[in-house]
Order: sequence, then C-alpha cells, then structure tokens
Amino acid sequence: MIDKEKIKESIRLFLEGIGEDPDREGLRETPERVAKMWEEFESLRNFNMKLFEEFGEYNEMVLVKDITFYSLCEHHLLPFFGKVHIAYIPNGVICGLSKLVRTVRAFALRPQVQERLTEEIADFIQKELNPKGVGVVLAAEHLCMSMRGVMSPGHITVTSALRGVFMKDIKTREEFLKLIQ
Ligand code: ZN
Repeated sequence: MIDKEKIKESIRLFLEGIGEDPDREGLRETPERVAKMWEEFESLRNFNMKLFEEFGEYNEMVLVKDITFYSLCEHHLLPFFGKVHIAYIPNGVICGLSKLVRTVRAFALRPQVQERLTEEIADFIQKELNPKGVGVVLAAEHLCMSMRGVMSPGHITVTSALRGVFMKDIKTREEFLKLIQ
C-alpha cells in the first residue's frame, strides 16, 4: 500500500538533507508530485490477465520483441531502462499481447534489480499461461552506472530467464535468441 503522507514527509526531509530549501518555489510541490507518482505506479501493478483458450492448434512460438520498460534500481533509486523480449510456446492458452506489456510494467514500476525483474516476468507468465516454455531477455542501461560510480554511459546489461522447453530444448532456445537479435 502507498502511504502518501509518509512519502511526502520523507521527500521533504530528503531535500533538507541534501541542503535544499524544500519551501523554495520549484520544490514546494515536489513531495506531493513524488507521492502521486508512486500512487500511479502502484495502480499499474494490478490488472486482469485475460486469457484466450481454444484458439486452435497453434503450437509455435509467440514472440513480442522490443517492449520498452522503465524501472528503478533498488540500490540507488535511479532508473534503469531498455528493452524486454518475451516468447512462449502455448499449451492451449494464449493471452492478449498487451497483457505481456502490462506484465512488464507491473513488475518494473517498483524498486528492482534487473535479474529479479527478468525472473518475475518469466515466472508470472509461466504461472498464468502454463505454456510449454517461456523465454525472457532484458537489455538495459542503468543510470546508477552511467551518471555515478564507474560513469559508463551507454553500457548495456543483459539478463535472461528461460523456463520449460526454452531451457531444455536447444533448438527452441536458439530460435528465440536468433529472432531477438
Ligand atoms: Zn543502482
């Protein structure tokens, strides 16, 4: 649950902590804006995963490439962002393609690490659709590595989570990796 009052208090304190005057014009509404933003993030976490059954004998890979995502690293609360590629091989059930996008957003809009985000997306699809397998690949730039620390803008971190036939069957995995290149 989002506690807007707590967010507002803490953002005000944070601004004081970094030597700013939280009452100056540009910052006066900032605690409220940040609290509203997190309320919006939370509202996007719950959605109805509508499934379609009986769509025939389609047993080939369903792939959605290049879903843009934005998340926040939980170590610095700075954004990491990039592309997600999701594939699955149905087992009698498919979902609307937009639901895959919503799945990504639901898990991305919270303090995260890229590895866990990748796994959570794969596990959720595995649980909801019970497909023969799922493959998820994320490629992201982390602003905590770009604008601080090693200061390496433009680097890309790639993570993957493979379930079912994507793990067991080399051909399926290779087809997936080739298609997302
Ligand atoms: Zn970080």
